[in-house]
Amino acid sequence: MAGAEGPGEAASGFSDLSDSELLQLEEPEPEPGGGGSPRTARDPDPDPAPAPLRVTELAAQSWCELQAALGRRRPVPPAPGRAALLRAGTHLHLARELEVHDIVDVPTSSREDAWAVRVLNLLTMIPVLQAGDCVRELPVFGLIEGVFLTGVIDELCYNIKGELELNELKTRSRPVMPSEAQRRRDHFQVCLYKYIFDAMVQGCLKPDIFTSHVSLSPEQLLGSEVKQHAQKAGFTVSTFGDLLELLCLNLTFSDIPHIDCLKINYNHQESNILLGTDIVLYEEKKVREKAQYYLAYWKGQREAQGVDIEEAWKCQFCDYSEICDWRRTRAEMPLQRSGPKKTK
Ligand code: SF4
Repeated sequence: MAGAEGPGEAASGFSDLSDSELLQLEEPEPEPGGGGSPRTARDPDPDPAPAPLRVTELAAQSWCELQAALGRRRPVPPAPGRAALLRAGTHLHLARELEVHDIVDVPTSSREDAWAVRVLNLLTMIPVLQAGDCVRELPVFGLIEGVFLTGVIDELCYNIKGELELNELKTRSRPVMPSEAQRRRDHFQVCLYKYIFDAMVQGCLKPDIFTSHVSLSPEQLLGSEVKQHAQKAGFTVSTFGDLLELLCLNLTFSDIPHIDCLKINYNHQESNILLGTDIVLYEEKKVREKAQYYLAYWKGQREAQGVDIEEAWKCQFCDYSEICDWRRTRAEMPLQRSGPKKTK
């Protein structure tokens, strides 16, 4: 697997974040503060171009939509305690990834180069899945309700029944299972992964989805290092469009099954002890309805909403509590309900 390096990476606005990204939304910790949008070594700078929505961002709306919106518009660095947790989570994921493949840095010089590296990562995982083996940190791309989403699946492997199983790892700073609110968010996250992955292997991902939704040029010539990297992986390509064609063809004719089973493992970070496993029920209609509701905000069809009064406890651990009008308004009317109950 490759990580993009260089200006293209900086321009991509796209990072291989999975659990490490979500650690920012962990349940209240003893230390104050936290939250924000940490950037990993693979995502060193914000993207000056409009960045696609991440699965984790969409899922984060079920925790607090306003926090998710502010996190994207006004990212703040995580507090020191949270930053240490994030680093530990990132290292754990990296170690797990290295168990199944090597990681090489590929210098990039354009946005298309940076995306090409992710596309190549996915392309090289297709034969591994076809051979019945396990993959980790698998990139996914696709549309839901007309919005382009990106994400990274922690692990896909075949279980003893021969079913394709998604395993998401969540590390916890405290040795307890997360709250219902967090689990709702996590369940939605893995359901979104399944939705996008299944669409990809059913041939729904088309090259023009990348070019029209993320403003990437199919004619863009790939940098020499990216072409070399592709060549080593067995692909001869010149332009970004060549690579997209290859990806879509390979996915469509791959015979990889859809995901049968969704599992989330919660581990204690320090001891690495498994705290519990959630088996997640997938109901496509509900996933689409929920996505439609949350995406209405990103489509500019409604304002972002903060938490309901019953969940106001979340605000005291939020990095945006000082500037949050929603919280202030709620604090000024403590005896009233927080407004119409959200149904999602
Ligand atoms: S302060 Fe509360 S309502 Fe405002 S963004 Fe944070 S969690 Fe959401």
